[in-house]
Amino acid sequence: MGGTMRWRFGGVWVVALVLSGCASRVGALTAPAGALTTVAEGGSPTSLPATPTCDGTPTLPQTEGPYYKSGAPEASTLVDEATGGDRLMLTGQVLTTACVPLAGARLDVWQADAGGVYDNAGYRMRGRVTTDADGRYALETIVPGPYPGRTPHIHVKVFDPGGRELMTTQIYLIGVSDQIADSIFDPRLLARDLPADAEGRRVVAFDIIVQP
Ligand code: FE
Repeated sequence: MGGTMRWRFGGVWVVALVLSGCASRVGALTAPAGALTTVAEGGSPTSLPATPTCDGTPTLPQTEGPYYKSGAPEASTLVDEATGGDRLMLTGQVLTTACVPLAGARLDVWQADAGGVYDNAGYRMRGRVTTDADGRYALETIVPGPYPGRTPHIHVKVFDPGGRELMTTQIYLIGVSDQIADSIFDPRLLARDLPADAEGRRVVAFDIIVQP
């Protein structure tokens, strides 16, 4: 039930932006209809900000929280047959503050499962992705569940190709993360919604601007 409303909300938003001609402003990301990048300019009550196209401003860092574990396996998906929840394709580009794509950057991604539970014994819902020559990454996962005190979020920690830690933050989902009160949540860290893929998965983009 709630999922339907969220999707409808997202759909309305995309349509409104296309009609207002903002689609031409899409910058670094080549994904189609990434028009949500300019929402922050509007300031209307119905337009939440989302991670903008690179303007050189580093992505807002956030705390890693208590559940980070190093050593997550390289993975293109965190999902297996046993994984519940709504599928999500998390994509994006890592760029330097000069807006140059950072190839070979490594992202540790970790999150709660659909029930809001972290795997602190193993590496379920934890993985590492490496950016390609264009600084892009993609990871199949699920929409995380909330847990006490926190709205749904996905943790990410970025390392340069040499393994030096560059930044840590949290990624939020429109229509999900902004529905539960949470003092850590910041709308500047909302991923942009892209069209669902051929398998019906929700696709979001979250670009990360790092000080190299
Ligand atoms: Fe967390």
